[in-house]
Amino acid sequence: MRVLLLGGTGEARALAARLHPDIPVISSLAGRVPDPALPVGEVRIGGFGGAAGLAQWLRGNGITAVVDATHPFAATITANAAQAAARVGLPHLVLARPAWPDGDAIAVGSDTEAAEVVARRGYRRVFLTTGRSGTAAFRDSDAWFLIRAVTAPEDELLPAHREVLLSRGPYRVEGERKLLREFGIDALVTKNSGGAMTRAKLQAAAETGIPVVMVSRPALPAGVRVVNSVDGAVDWLANLR
Ligand code: NAP
Repeated sequence: MRVLLLGGTGEARALAARLHPDIPVISSLAGRVPDPALPVGEVRIGGFGGAAGLAQWLRGNGITAVVDATHPFAATITANAAQAAARVGLPHLVLARPAWPDGDAIAVGSDTEAAEVVARRGYRRVFLTTGRSGTAAFRDSDAWFLIRAVTAPEDELLPAHREVLLSRGPYRVEGERKLLREFGIDALVTKNSGGAMTRAKLQAAAETGIPVVMVSRPALPAGVRVVNSVDGAVDWLANLR
């Protein structure tokens, strides 16, 4: 057995730690962030060159199973992995952490729809946490944005009125509450990432009565096998042995 574990998430690191050293695992990172948190065991960094490149890589590296534990919004690599595993005939699993319940949030299908809601509702001071690639849809907005991301978005993808806060979770409710207050935030825009690392902002927003605009997750490729926990992935791999 030799597993390719597509990572870049806390769940992927937790899974690598559970499998290592009993099951040979190569963790793969996109290489987007400087100084990434590294999983235990073997790690490779960088893209594969689309689904075809990944299929070739799987064959060339003697991989016998693929676990995709990438972020729920990393839709391209997830589609490529499903395609490549099918092409090579390998068992393939998606580990997708549970989504946050929408609750009272305004659920939207895309960053563009989120920007429309901001304009329509007249929000003026928005805490924008949709990540580096999520700012472009707000470029023409005349609201002010507090943009939190791990790496800085390019200037031309940013709205005119903004402050960029570079940081990496996990976050705590107290800190999030303080941020909302200090910056006079009147709306939170977030992806439905799920998980505990970045959930505190939702509680802080709820406590302070700040409306939340939540971008729903992209759909998973049709027919893929999915588990919602690291335990589920460990069990799936155990059954392959
Ligand atoms: P994406 O849009 O789905 O993928 C774009 C391209 O990046 C892929 O086609 C692939 O390049 C490469 N890639 C992505 N993940 C990879 C991986 N784990 N190993 C090797 N290559 C990878 O991905 P993204 O949304 O930019 O996310 C990139 C990474 O950051 C993922 O590993 C993800 O888990 C992590 N992350 C993403 C988010 C988010 O909000 N999107 C949040 C936290 C962490 P090739 O086509 O050349 O193979």
